[in-house]
Amino acid sequence: MAGEPQADCLFCKIVAGEVPATIVRETETTVAFRDINPQAPTHVLVIPKAHYPNAAELAAAEPKVIADILSESREVAADDQIEETGYRVVFNTGSGAGQTVFHAHLHVLGGRGLQWPPG
Ligand code: C5P
Repeated sequence: MAGEPQADCLFCKIVAGEVPATIVRETETTVAFRDINPQAPTHVLVIPKAHYPNAAELAAAEPKVIADILSESREVAADDQIEETGYRVVFNTGSGAGQTVFHAHLHVLGGRGLQWPPG
């Protein structure tokens, strides 16, 4: 069923506490943890607890949770004090855009100068 945990999903296992992660925030609907391969001094992933393969499917099924994820990204930026220097939030959606883990996740990147376009 849509949103149910998937046995073969790494991020569902992080939500369940079966795979370790450095969790920085948690709400009823979301978990935020530090990326294992950080691309900036702050690199946090904010994910829905429910399983959806990408942000588009999450937005279609549970738009409020997308809003929760964006609210949490703001809290991550405040916690890490990266608001003033600027930060980036990214949903890679589809393998052609670089998505490698097919459980929706928002990257929160900051703490250094960020280039645009990202390439
Ligand atoms: O957008 P994309 O799917 O490529 O992002 C997946 C992210 O998940 C990567 O930045 C990767 O470093 C991260 N990851 C993680 N912990 C794992 C496996 C992957 O933080 N155990």
